[in-house]
Amino acid sequence: MPDVILEQANENEKESLNFIEEAINEDLKNGRFDHVQTRFPPEPNGYLHIGHAKAICIDFGMAQKYGGKCNLRFDDTNPTKEDTEYVDAIMEDIKWLGFEWDNVYYASDYFDFVYDCAVKLIRMGLAYVDDSTPEQIREMRGTLTSPGQNSPYRERTIEENLRLFAEMTEGKYDNGAKVLRAKIDMASPNINMRDPVIYRILKASHHRTGDKWCVYPMYDFAHPLSDSNEGVTFSLCTMEFEDHRPLYDWFLQKLQLPVQSRQIEFARLNLNYTLTSKRKCLNLVNEGVVSGWDDPRMSTLCGMRRRGYTPEAIRAFCEKIGVAKSNSVVDYSLLEFCLRDDLSKKSPRAMAVLRPLKVIIDNYPEGKTEELDVEINPEMPELGTRKVKFSREIYIEQDDFMTEPVKKYFRLAPGKEVRLKSAYFITCTGYETDDDGNVTLLHCTYDEASKGGNSPDGRKVKGTLQWVSAEYGVDAEIRLYDRLFNAENPSSEVGVSDFKENLNPDSLIVLNGKVEPYLKQARRGDTFQFMRTGYFTPDYDSAPDKLIFNRTVALKDSWAKIK
Ligand code: ATP
Ligand code: MG
Repeated sequence: MPDVILEQANENEKESLNFIEEAINEDLKNGRFDHVQTRFPPEPNGYLHIGHAKAICIDFGMAQKYGGKCNLRFDDTNPTKEDTEYVDAIMEDIKWLGFEWDNVYYASDYFDFVYDCAVKLIRMGLAYVDDSTPEQIREMRGTLTSPGQNSPYRERTIEENLRLFAEMTEGKYDNGAKVLRAKIDMASPNINMRDPVIYRILKASHHRTGDKWCVYPMYDFAHPLSDSNEGVTFSLCTMEFEDHRPLYDWFLQKLQLPVQSRQIEFARLNLNYTLTSKRKCLNLVNEGVVSGWDDPRMSTLCGMRRRGYTPEAIRAFCEKIGVAKSNSVVDYSLLEFCLRDDLSKKSPRAMAVLRPLKVIIDNYPEGKTEELDVEINPEMPELGTRKVKFSREIYIEQDDFMTEPVKKYFRLAPGKEVRLKSAYFITCTGYETDDDGNVTLLHCTYDEASKGGNSPDGRKVKGTLQWVSAEYGVDAEIRLYDRLFNAENPSSEVGVSDFKENLNPDSLIVLNGKVEPYLKQARRGDTFQFMRTGYFTPDYDSAPDKLIFNRTVALKDSWAKIK
C-alpha cells in the first residue's frame, strides 16, 4: 500500500471517524484495496438538488481525503427520461460546488461490457429469458412473508436462452414481451434476490447510443458492473440501496470481476419545508408552480445559486450535518445559518429601501450634496469605507415611521429623533397623508452637528435607519423570496401533485424599491447585505438600467419565532 494512504489511515485513528471512513480504513488495512476511488453517479433526468450536494460532498470528499480519485458517472440506463440538457447542467453544478472529477463516464459507455456480462451469466446457467408478463412476474415474486414461485421459463436451456436473448437484442420482440432475469433464489428472504430482471426490451433512442440498442440493462445490473469496470473501490450511495447490496455483491462475485467494489450506504438528506426529489421538482416546473428549474425558490443547486446561495455555505452545511445511517430531517434553519455565516463576511453593506417613504429635511440646504463615508463591511474593517451621497430629500422604509408609535418603537414618529446611518440625526416635524390616510411624505429637520451619525452632546437616539438619497438613488425591483412550502414535510404520503396544497402563498413578494447608485455595478454572483433587510444578489434578469435584486435570506430567522 502506498505510504500516503497508510499514513492517512493511521492519521484517521486519532480523529473521530464516521462509519464510511471506518470502513475505508478497514479495507486499506486488511489489503482489500490499496487506494480509494469513488464516483458520483447521477441519472441525467433532472437537475441536481440540495440532497445531491450531500452525496457530492461525500463522494468527492472521501476521494480528496485519501488522495484518491472520484469520477463523475452518468447513470444513463433509462433512455426515455434522459437528456443532454441535464448532463450539462449537472456538470455545471458540480463545478460550481467546487469539485473536480477525474474523468467523466457514462454507464452507456459500458453497454457492450454489460451485455457481455449478461451473456456470460446465461452461459453459466445463471440467467434466463422469461416470457411472463410484468404482472405475472410481480405475482410470482411473493411477498415479504411468503416466498416467490419459479417462473415456468426458469429451466430453459442455455442454448435457448442465448438464442432468445440474441433475438431480443436484434429487435425481434416487442417492448415487454420478454426479459432477461438472473437466476438466483425465488425463496430468498430478500426480494431483490428473487430472480431480478437484468435486461428489458425498450425500443427507444438513447441520448448517446442512439438506436444501437433495443435492450437496456436494469440499474441494479449496470451499476455494480460500471463501478467495477471503472475500478471504483468504494461505491457510496444512499440507504435505499442497502437491500440491493447482496445483489450488487452477487453479480461481482459470480462474474469474478477483478475489482470487487464495496458498496457503503448513508442516509439521504431530508430538509424540512423542502422537496428533495427530482421527480417532484420536475412536477413543480411542468405545472408552472415555479418559473423553471432555476427559480430561486427551488431546492435545486441552480435555483439556490440564482437565489444567492454560495458553494461555501452549502459545503459547510454538508459538513455540519455529517454522515449517518439513520434517516432524519434536517432543519432548514441550519442551512440558513451556514449561509448567513458565509455571506456576512463576503457581502459589502449597501443601503436600500424596499418600501420607500419620502422624507424632506426642511433645514438642509436645497441643492447641496455631501459625500459621506460608509463602512464597506464592519466585519472586515480593513476594507475601509466608501462614499455615499446625501441630499435634502431621501427615502426611508415605510415601516420605519408610525404616526402613533407603539411602546418600544425606537424608529421615527412625530417629534421623535433617529439616526440616519452614517449621516445625521433627524427629528420628525410633520407628515402628509393621502385621502385614505396613508402617509405619503415626512418632514424632518436635521442636526448639522451630528454629522457621521455621532451624537454631538451625548444625547442618545436608539433607532438607526438606512436611507437612500432621492436625488441619486435608483429604482430597483426587489424580489423577496421565502420558503415555497408551509408544511414541514410538503410531500408526506401525498401524490405528486397534492403537495401543491402546501404551497406558501407568500413565497415571492415583488416590491419597487430604491437603492444606492453603487448597486448599479452589481454583477451576477455578487452578494450584498442590504442594511437591516437581508442579503441580496442581482437576479440573472437584472441590468444596469433595470435593477432586480433577489433576497437570498433575511438577516434573522423569522420562522423560529413563529413556531
Ligand atoms: P431523486 O429521487 O431526486 O431523483 P435519485 O437518487 O434518483 O434522486 P440520482 O441522480 O440517482 O438521483 O442520484 C445520484 C446520487 O445522489 C445517488 O448516489 C443518490 O443516492 C444521491 N442522492 C440523491 N438524493 C439524495 C439525497 N436527498 N441525499 C443524499 N444523497 C442523495
Ligand atoms: Mg436514482
